[in-house]
Amino acid sequence: MSRLHRSICVAQPVLDGNEAKYVMNCLEENWISSKGKYIERFESMLAEYCGVSDAVVTNNGTTALHLSLVACGIQPGDEVVMPTLSYVATANAARYCGAIPVFVDSEPNFYAIDVEKIEDAITPRTKAILTVPLYGHPVDIDPIAEIASRHGIMLIEDAAEALGASYKGRRVGSLAKCSSFSFFGNKTITTGEGGAIVTNDKALAQRMKFLRGQAVDPNKSYWHPEVGFNYRMTNIAAAIGVAQAERLEIHVQRRRQVAKWYFDRLWAGQDLLQLPRSASWAEHSYWMYTVVLKTQVNIDREEWIKELSVRGIETRPIFYPIHGMPPYRGQKGQFPVADQISSRGINLPTHGMLSEDDVDYICENLLASIKMLQTRSRYIGRAA
Ligand SMILES: *Cc1c(COP(=O)(O)O)cnc(C)c1O
Repeated sequence: MSRLHRSICVAQPVLDGNEAKYVMNCLEENWISSKGKYIERFESMLAEYCGVSDAVVTNNGTTALHLSLVACGIQPGDEVVMPTLSYVATANAARYCGAIPVFVDSEPNFYAIDVEKIEDAITPRTKAILTVPLYGHPVDIDPIAEIASRHGIMLIEDAAEALGASYKGRRVGSLAKCSSFSFFGNKTITTGEGGAIVTNDKALAQRMKFLRGQAVDPNKSYWHPEVGFNYRMTNIAAAIGVAQAERLEIHVQRRRQVAKWYFDRLWAGQDLLQLPRSASWAEHSYWMYTVVLKTQVNIDREEWIKELSVRGIETRPIFYPIHGMPPYRGQKGQFPVADQISSRGINLPTHGMLSEDDVDYICENLLASIKMLQTRSRYIGRAA
């Protein structure tokens, strides 16, 4: 390793558009709270991009998902079928409604909910299927929509990771009754903290806006006919969002470029690593380029992450399946695919500030560190 030591982070935002200008404009015009021109502008840009009628922005992706579940009428005791392999917010949002997350195992190709296992999870109490396009690959939604409609239940997407992805030419965000996004600093576009729900259902969007603002009666201020929430986004955050959304296609293309660089360099390492797959019906947005150690590679994933970190490369373990977390333990059933992927996969640095040279450095070290750890474990094996 003759190269200079680097420090490459797993994610970082790219703020190279009108972000500073629009934020300054909020400060100069004194519109820094949750009223102001950028909020509606950001909402219409998102709706247009996703090809739907409405968008409702919120203060983060978790509140966006919670708001969508509440507005869809998810109530205490209802069951929501969802993949176990997701970020914990997916389950938490259902729990906030008093609903019960019912976890389903993943399929091994795109790490999404396994369509074949969904019907086993449906009971008379099931109100919705909540799909998650993991790491930017869209979910094969048609067969799931068919199951939902046959059982008379809703289909909702937690699309936090897949802004910019498409399914059969349709943008993620237009595939379900409503879909939520996150604009946390590591997501495809960011507002610092932020979220949105997109939908083609105008009445549903109206209801979300009502609940987002403490359910105040539109004709009588300080009168609240229901329990609402303060989930509003600030004009400052929306100003950043507008600037990001103006360059949304560029932000998505940068990630696709990074993914292409990874594929070029890791192609030769496929005896060691499962690279991300992309279905013929999918346009992947590569939120996080994710690799999984092949079963014959006998190294400790945690050791590998540590070794990469020593070499200046920050990575993340794939999400731990939610069914194993303390608040959600207890559901019967096996989740072998999710468990397997989760214990052997990592997210590589994926963001628009990476250069081709960075990706070179990462890939070289990725493969070298696996070989180093393999050699070490063989040596220790002999010594024992
Ligand atoms: C990021 C993310 C969220 C929540 O987003 P926050 O903005 O961090 O609240 C929800 N679901 C999934 C799958 C995510 O990746």
